[in-house]
Amino acid sequence: MAHIIAEPCIGTKDTACVEVCPVDCIHPTKDDGDHGQHTQLYIDPDTCIDCGLCVDECPVHAIFPQDDLPAEWQKYIQINLDYFAAKQA
Ligand code: SF4
Repeated sequence: MAHIIAEPCIGTKDTACVEVCPVDCIHPTKDDGDHGQHTQLYIDPDTCIDCGLCVDECPVHAIFPQDDLPAEWQKYIQINLDYFAAKQA
């Protein structure tokens, strides 16, 4: 299980979540070269330790534990995963 970033992040990309994540699993950060190419941030499901610290930092409430992800945003599980899978390809 992991936390998932969903639709409210699109166009927001606040990055406050990046600052609090203890395992640096939220990307692209402002320092990542591809930050401008993406409309939202993503959480690496293989690295996230489900600490929940990022949830309250998000000003648009875009981050959810996977089990609490609203039904209309289930596709974001795959969308978060795909970002990191593409990095490894
Ligand atoms: Fe990082 Fe914790 Fe949020 Fe996972 S739940 S992305 S480990 S801050």
